[in-house]
Amino acid sequence: MSAATDAVTEALRDLHSRFAGVDEGEIADYIPQLALADPDAFGLALISMDGHRYSIGDAEVPFTIQSVSKPFVYALALSVLGLDEVSRWVNAEPSGEAFNAISLERGTGRPDNAMVNAGAIVTTALIPDTSRTPRFERILDCLSRFAGRMLDVDEQVYASEAYTGDRNRALAYLIRSTGPLPVDPVAAVETYFRQCSVRVTAMDLAAMAATLAHGGVNPLNGDRVVAESVAAQVLAVMATCGMYDASGDWLLRVGLPAKSGVSGGLIAAGPARFGLATYSPLLDPAGTSVRGHLAIGSLSQRFGLHLMNNPALPGSTVTGVTTAEDLPVEPAGERESARRGRAAIVTAQGALDFTAAERVLHALDEPEPEGTVAVVLDLLRVTDIDTVARAMLRSGLARLAADGRRTAVADPDGRLREPGEDGVAPHCFATLEQAVAWATREPAD
Ligand code: GLN
Repeated sequence: MSAATDAVTEALRDLHSRFAGVDEGEIADYIPQLALADPDAFGLALISMDGHRYSIGDAEVPFTIQSVSKPFVYALALSVLGLDEVSRWVNAEPSGEAFNAISLERGTGRPDNAMVNAGAIVTTALIPDTSRTPRFERILDCLSRFAGRMLDVDEQVYASEAYTGDRNRALAYLIRSTGPLPVDPVAAVETYFRQCSVRVTAMDLAAMAATLAHGGVNPLNGDRVVAESVAAQVLAVMATCGMYDASGDWLLRVGLPAKSGVSGGLIAAGPARFGLATYSPLLDPAGTSVRGHLAIGSLSQRFGLHLMNNPALPGSTVTGVTTAEDLPVEPAGERESARRGRAAIVTAQGALDFTAAERVLHALDEPEPEGTVAVVLDLLRVTDIDTVARAMLRSGLARLAADGRRTAVADPDGRLREPGEDGVAPHCFATLEQAVAWATREPAD
């Protein structure tokens, strides 16, 4: 009997024991070093957005990253060159073909996406190569920052990748012959082989996936590895192309951006939720770890993690619309109490984004309760307001004011205080009492 642990570890343990006995699939044997892998090895690791780590089984067993490196090198290229420039060289369309197919766009020769070998080789070639910082050094540094520790290369795997890599070399020459390869094909492919030979564990891969899920910031150490926009772009391409010719079915059934690798690594990211990785070297015909696929699919189902399943549906935003008469403060005099009764209060809570701001604005727009002359927005329980919500609230309040409604905001942190683009600032106060007093003041006050 295993010791009682937390619910997440229990879930991983359950998946491990359910699927450890599955022995379908083949170990990649295109090079002897991969064929030596232990077919029984099976590890799972999950890292939350707070950097909490959970694992079971062989989560610390090293193996080479192989194609799981592709989204991270794509992230580096996007960081250095931007999406428009990278897209000139590598498209972002699912190829519907195997990882090593000649997936090149008709007419331009541009590889279909950065997750198949053709696109990954071009992506690697796009990384700047200077005498001060050679291309591979940049790549290794980037992969290491995603993992939160310094990674290294399995030189034996690298040597045999290079020895047997004619198909990838052929791909690189073919791409150059049709146009889009900005460097010498041999140099590009050698760097690509080295990148595939970087040694990781399932725990490292979980940290890398978690960094993408966490908007580009490594949740273990707070390191901003790539911009939020880059992390979103990479997750989008993982969602549509990460599983090669099985990408559509994966998105349909599992519903998470993911990337597989030929040595048995598999990552999946729950945006704003977690990074997940599995290691088990037995592969299906699409080159995906059989047990990894089963484990991630069943975890996604069990915890309702499918991307299209109401992603991050927030709880209620507007907790109440009352009049200030109901304020829980010392008894007010009659006159004071009557005065308070003339303010409607809209109380919001939690983190405000587009969806939440729409709810707040809708509540502010409701007809005022009878007898009220003013509306007060109470932000005391609001934990965060993103830039979109801030702009929406500012302009919504300005519109109400322009319609002749007296509005005030209880905004102790001054989050709405700065004027918006139109120079209009709402009336913000440190306490609800002050906001109500201002909003219900007599004209002569
Ligand atoms: N090194 C392998 C190759 O380029 C990586 C492929 C993979 O992991 N799917 O062929």
